[in-house]
Amino acid sequence: MITVFSGGTGTPKLLQGLKRVVDNEKLAVIVNTGEDTWVGDLYLSPDVDTVLYTLADLINEETWYGVKGDTFYTHEQLKNLGFDEVLRIGDKDRALKMHKTYYLRRGYKLSEVVDMEREALGIKAKVIPMTDDRVETKILAKVGDKVDLLKFHDFWVKRRGEVEVLDVIYENSLYAKPCEKAVEAIKNSNLIIIGPSNPITSIGPILSLSGIKELLKDKKVIVVSPIVGNSAVSGPAGKLMRAKGYDVSVKGIYEFYKDVVDVLVIDNTDKEIAKEIPCEVLITNTIMKTLDDKVRLAKNIVEFCGSL
Ligand code: GDP
Repeated sequence: MITVFSGGTGTPKLLQGLKRVVDNEKLAVIVNTGEDTWVGDLYLSPDVDTVLYTLADLINEETWYGVKGDTFYTHEQLKNLGFDEVLRIGDKDRALKMHKTYYLRRGYKLSEVVDMEREALGIKAKVIPMTDDRVETKILAKVGDKVDLLKFHDFWVKRRGEVEVLDVIYENSLYAKPCEKAVEAIKNSNLIIIGPSNPITSIGPILSLSGIKELLKDKKVIVVSPIVGNSAVSGPAGKLMRAKGYDVSVKGIYEFYKDVVDVLVIDNTDKEIAKEIPCEVLITNTIMKTLDDKVRLAKNIVEFCGSL
């Protein structure tokens, strides 16, 4: 069995490849919930929904959230009614969010609801939220001349990341437990893939849960670097790594993962610094633009680790 740790943009691209390369019944994806939030009456689990849509071949690849070709009638009508629509959520996407909200309000665990959704969408791989407890990633930032603790959504969507970041914290992660299904998946896996996701806001929250790092000690862990050259392929990973004191390079990625990583996958661009990385290194093209890129990288990874 193979378990993948995922956020909501970089790793989903790799999942598009993996789902075409490995037996999906033997694939589990543990997904970050640190960006989950309530907006109005809706529970949003952005990374979980992106992984569901990706594995169901429904994802809008322009934005990496929402359903491709979705309509926005509900959003428009709510706006016409004067409702404060903070987010532009598509109709089908809203249905999934309403489904989650309905069951969460009736006492179901997030992992139970996601499992229902996975099945209804015809997904064979397991999709597991990292925890059923609330862990919230917050950004300590200088906003004007004040220091404020921002929700991730506030930082990235509302303020477009244009604030000075002082620190990133995972609120409540000391008390949160990983989902039992996540623990089981790791235990049953002979390979763990940490996809090219933001280490600070997507993978860090998963690793912060009690017992996860210990479980990874006996496992073969391969990490795909989301940093190519001296910047992230997309999103705020560079800025947040810098704020946490890491070099924005594959060396910084190694430092971040040094307690758990066995193999680091780096891009051809960075081949000169491979010898400075003190673990096994796989050098390849890690930029995933086409489906071919994704399938090739996925194949490369599982072949390299002897899991194909
Ligand atoms: P989020 O939840 O939307 O922040 O998404 P993730 O954390 O899953 O992914 C964001 C990270 O994916 C960024 O740090 C990017 O650098 C990385 N990323 C996106 N596309 C690619 C790609 O094609 N190749 C690699 N190596 N990294 C990528």
